Amino acid sequence: MSARILDGEAFASQIHQQTTRRVQALHKLGLTPSLVFIRVGEDPASRAYVSRKEKRAAEVGISSRTLVFPENTSLPSLLREIDALNADPKVHGILIQSPLPKSLPNNLVYARVSPDKDVDGFHPVNFGKLLLDDPSGFLPCTPAGILEILRLGQIPTAGKHAVVVGRGQIVGRPLSVLLARKSPGADCTVTLAHSSTRDLPAITRQADILVGAMGRPHFLKPEHIRPGATVIDVGVNRISDSSDSRGYRLVGDVDSESVRMVAGAITPNPGGVGPMTIALLLSNTLRAAESSIS
Ligand code: NAP
Repeated sequence: MSARILDGEAFASQIHQQTTRRVQALHKLGLTPSLVFIRVGEDPASRAYVSRKEKRAAEVGISSRTLVFPENTSLPSLLREIDALNADPKVHGILIQSPLPKSLPNNLVYARVSPDKDVDGFHPVNFGKLLLDDPSGFLPCTPAGILEILRLGQIPTAGKHAVVVGRGQIVGRPLSVLLARKSPGADCTVTLAHSSTRDLPAITRQADILVGAMGRPHFLKPEHIRPGATVIDVGVNRISDSSDSRGYRLVGDVDSESVRMVAGAITPNPGGVGPMTIALLLSNTLRAAESSIS
């Protein structure tokens, strides 16, 4: 039997509806939540991601704009711009679209955003709060979105074995911490696997919940899956495809056609984790705006 589909678009639209209602309440108080995207360079994927986020922001009533900097922008000029946004009370959220050019030190740039406006959850203060279970911080959007997929998809988590493949800063590492939290919707036993993990299939086959966050196209195959497991496909990979007008198409880390015959539930890709990442970004922005008046 084919796996149940964990429809990220449908879950995201539930979250957008809640966000919209709370944004409308702020509008009545004369406050419009506002989000600024910073994009450096002309990476086509980054352009597409930002415009999708801007479109969704407008749909829920959040105002947004994008500042675009040339590829050769200097660190001081970028930091000056971030300082100005930090100081602007009309700006509630700031998102630095990754990837930044290699010439710019990512950590310095992300750490310059005020933690109160770091709606992406990458600032060291917010990362620290995540580790300390301090709910006043912003959670990184993709891992938080994955927890919401499990909650809205009614996937039991307490006492389950979650295997996260990939220990990247944006997804795998923070997700492993969130899944291990002693709280409802988490409370998993977590294994964090990576490129030095030995006999990966033997480990992933123990997973009740398996997360592919590697950036390796179609890497996870039926032999990695325990029958009935929940599979979350985070990876976004470009593979060439002459039948597509762009000459490529995007695929996940999971070989979904074959894996869905073994798994119990699976996120589509696209249409799974991606929409939830945007939903959590907008709900973080709403929270930042609400905090600005409390
Ligand atoms: P990253 O920082 O490059 O981390 C990739 C991780 O995968 C590393 O820990 C690496 O291990 C591990 N890995 C690579 N090949 C492996 C293999 N053969 N076996 C086991 N582990 C392997 O990537 P990231 O930023 O976390 O992103 C991961 C993927 O998620 C990317 O495709 C990205 O585009 C996607 N993503 C999607 C969304 C979304 O909203 N859908 C959001 C963010 C990211 P080592 O540490 O040993 O090198």
